[in-house]
Amino acid sequence: MSEPIIAVEDVTYSYDGRPAVEGVSLSVEEGEFLGLVGPNGSGKTTLLKLMLGLLSPDSGEVRLFGVPVEAFDAGERIGYVSQHSTGKERTMPVTVREVVTMGRYPHTRFGWLRSHDREMVEEALSRVGIAELADRRINELSGGQKQRAFIARTLAGEADLLALDEPTVGVDADSRDRFYALLDELNDQGITIVLIEHDIGVVTDHADRVACINRELYHHGDAEAFMESDALARAYGTNSRMIEHGH
Ligand code: ADP
Repeated sequence: MSEPIIAVEDVTYSYDGRPAVEGVSLSVEEGEFLGLVGPNGSGKTTLLKLMLGLLSPDSGEVRLFGVPVEAFDAGERIGYVSQHSTGKERTMPVTVREVVTMGRYPHTRFGWLRSHDREMVEEALSRVGIAELADRRINELSGGQKQRAFIARTLAGEADLLALDEPTVGVDADSRDRFYALLDELNDQGITIVLIEHDIGVVTDHADRVACINRELYHHGDAEAFMESDALARAYGTNSRMIEHGH
C-alpha cells in the first residue's frame, strides 16, 4: 500500500498546559472517508488542525502526503472548510464564480487565468451542483449553498484532500442530506475526506472508518466495528444514548 495521505504518530497538543489531544496515532489512506467523532470539547478540531499542519504538536509526528508536516508546501492539495468558513465572505461583494476562481490562483502565474483555468472553475461549479448560482453574490447564498461554493473553490485548486469541520451546522435537513450525498460522490471520484460531524448516524452512514476521540483515541477503524464496540459509550460517558439517537 502507498503511504497514507495523513499519518499521525503519538501526537500530543496542549493549550496552556492542558492537553487537548494526547498520544493519538492514526492514519488516513488515499481515497478514504474518515469520520472524526467525540463529545464537545474532546479535541476534534485540534486534531484536525494538527493533521493539516495548522498547529504543531508538542510531541509526536504528523506526515502529510508522505512528508513531515513542517516541510509540506503544497497547501493547494488540501481543502479545509471550517465551521467559520462562511463568516469572512458574508460581507464581501463577490460572486460565487469569483470565490471559486480564488481557488485556482495557486495554479496561475500572477493571477493570470488561462482558458484551462476558467474551465477548471466551471467544472468545479458543476461538480458541486451550483453552476446556475455562479453569478450570484456569495452572501446571498444559503448556508448549504455556501459550503458547496467553498468546496468548489478547493476543487478548482485540484485539492485531493477535503477536511471539513461540522460543515452543515445551521443547514436545513434536506440540504444537509444533499451535501453528504455530494461528499459521497466526491469520495467515489477519489477525493480523500476527513469529516468532523457531531451526528454519529451521519458519520456511520457515510464514512468508511471512524476515529473516536476524547482527548485520547478510543477507536480507529471500521464504522461498523465502531458501532458494535463500546468505544462510543466510553468516549461519551453518560451522554452516549442521547448522541447515538440524535440522527
Ligand atoms: P472539539 O472540536 O472536539 O469541540 P476542540 O479541539 O475545539 O474540541 O477543543 C479541545 C479542548 O481544547 C477544549 O477543552 C477547548 O476548550 C480547548 N481549546 C480549544 N482551542 C483553544 C484555544 N485556542 N485556547 C485554549 N484552549 C482551547
